[in-house]
Amino acid sequence: IFAAVEMAPRDPILGLNEAFNADSRSTKVNLGVGVYFTDEGKIPLLGAVKAAEKARLEAAPARGYQPIEGLAAYNKAVAELLFGKDSALISEGKTITIEALGGTGALKVGADYLKRLNPAAKVYISDPSWENHRALFESAGFTVENYPYYDAATRGVNFAGMKACLASLPAGSIIVLHACCHNPTGADMTDAQWEEIVAVCQARGLVPFLDMAYQGFAEGIDADAVAVRAFSKSGLQFFISSSFSKSFSLYGERVGALTIVTASKEEAGRVMSQVKRVVRTNYSNPPTHGGAVVAAVLASAELRQQWEDELAGMRVRIREMRKALVEKLAERKVAQDFGFVMKQRGMFSYTGLSAEQVERMKTEFGVYAVSTGRICIAALNSKNIDYVADAIAAVLK
Ligand code: PMP
Repeated sequence: IFAAVEMAPRDPILGLNEAFNADSRSTKVNLGVGVYFTDEGKIPLLGAVKAAEKARLEAAPARGYQPIEGLAAYNKAVAELLFGKDSALISEGKTITIEALGGTGALKVGADYLKRLNPAAKVYISDPSWENHRALFESAGFTVENYPYYDAATRGVNFAGMKACLASLPAGSIIVLHACCHNPTGADMTDAQWEEIVAVCQARGLVPFLDMAYQGFAEGIDADAVAVRAFSKSGLQFFISSSFSKSFSLYGERVGALTIVTASKEEAGRVMSQVKRVVRTNYSNPPTHGGAVVAAVLASAELRQQWEDELAGMRVRIREMRKALVEKLAERKVAQDFGFVMKQRGMFSYTGLSAEQVERMKTEFGVYAVSTGRICIAALNSKNIDYVADAIAAVLK
């Protein structure tokens, strides 16, 4: 049965990791994958997470099945991060949240449910987008198209192009939007532009799907929820995927959530029953540990404060690395002004380096980046930044 099976292409980013691991140069630097590292080059285990895990280990809870939708306390905490503690949507029972296997799992459950709900709809993702968006929605059976997003000339959002495209789409089209810290470009919309996007979605009857993978990495928990809050006020029904991989540094625990805003409490109940069917036939119910840890951190005033401080620490270190990179490239007298790196938000910088320049950084320096020119700023540190600046300056000559 496998005789005619073809080799699938390597995942563009996880494939980079394999090449990096096989590189024997001691000076090699991996700026490919979207993971936050400390200045010591380590993936942190947050203090708030450690404390919650210690308490959980001591309590030694049994490992029974979770409900299909996951831990109630976790789902409530996730909704409060998204909508704010005093949200009317929550108190009116219009939202449902289920614990999911990371942001990816949340997107996939949402996509599978949308396919059952509206099989003829098309999905629109930003140009460019997180490289898994297209494959994920295609694997749920959708045709996926792009809407204009990044403007290479201004290094910002091509807002006019995006808005005009959305305004031309048929009702029911599914629009995947990066809620903050756009991956890969780091270019986000302003608050006023979000309001305009909400209005277009409302006027055209579009179905927004907000992908929230970096809440807290741009400005802070509430400030980064601006898109969610703008849609919440509108009365629209919409989807949100959350990921805590980065914000809790719990990548491998697969902690995420799917939230759906409905028109009423009664509707929410029916939608929840259908989403549970999707989950039941995929993986039955989510794992216990990651969600329990996040719920425990968010339920304790002390641990929550500690987490917010640690998250702010990550955010600040990334900003420092952005500044240092801009300065070091200027010191190396590169022709181009890299000041734009300071304006980009989140973990990444879309450097504008070409695929050939990225290839040269890899072969000549062992500095690994995505071929689109995306580098992970959160992988820079005080020890590797000079070497990386040397590599970038060299390939720009
Ligand atoms: N969406 C975006 C925009 C992402 O950048 C990522 C992670 N890189 C995800 C979703 C997936 O998150 P997770 O790793 O939690 O599945």
